[in-house]
Amino acid sequence: MTVIDIKANLDAVQERIATACARANRNPDEVTLVAVSKKKPIEAIVAANLCGMRHFGENRVEEAMEKIPVVNEQVDEKPVWHMIGHIQSRKAKLVEPLFDVVHSIDTLKIAEKLSQLASESQRTLPVLLEVNISGEAAKYGFEASDWKNKPAIKANFWDTVAKLQQLPYLDIRGLMTMAPFYDDMERTRPIFADLAELREHLQSGFHVALPDLSMGMTNDFPIAIEEGATILRIGRAIFGERA
Ligand SMILES: *Cc1c(COP(=O)(O)O)cnc(C)c1O
Repeated sequence: MTVIDIKANLDAVQERIATACARANRNPDEVTLVAVSKKKPIEAIVAANLCGMRHFGENRVEEAMEKIPVVNEQVDEKPVWHMIGHIQSRKAKLVEPLFDVVHSIDTLKIAEKLSQLASESQRTLPVLLEVNISGEAAKYGFEASDWKNKPAIKANFWDTVAKLQQLPYLDIRGLMTMAPFYDDMERTRPIFADLAELREHLQSGFHVALPDLSMGMTNDFPIAIEEGATILRIGRAIFGERA
């Protein structure tokens, strides 16, 4: 992909974001686009940065270690790096120095490790809690499928959130989810609506602000915007299909 291809793709994505925001009566400034650059070369990331992209998402620690320092060297405006993939606990110490935001907090254990590491770096790490809303599809995330009808699931998740809130060096910004792939993107709507409702319940139950909902990918982002997404994680629509 050339800079020109990436620019054209980015323009098309921004246009679709604007259209979905207009439909939902939302201001496009409320929606942050994270360009998911996993499996894509450094040159593609630098090209997207030249086109004005400032937020990038990676899902594997080893790959991120190879790419992030080089990209940071090559660009004038250092990107904001989002970790969006599952983190094995023995790799937490590699994640903390590389990333600015972690979307994939899926166990109390990984949260505790990252809080400890952030404290050693004398910073607070912004994080999102990955939630498994759809039940079958996602492999990772705190179990919350059908939380409205299942008191035990809700109680369990509430208990975990209470513990996560005690971690002093994590700033819990909100929730993240992945919808299953459907040919008809309309089918993702109940999942995104459910995540938004879960966020509302947590905000009022814990008296906290959870401003961010990280949801919506290439296949389903217009629906996610309509249901309140504040962060979109989009890869293929920007960088093309992955090998
Ligand atoms: C790969 C990935 C994305 C982006 O998916 P696309 O279909 O390329 O837009 C978003 N979120 C997560 C967690 C991913 O792993």
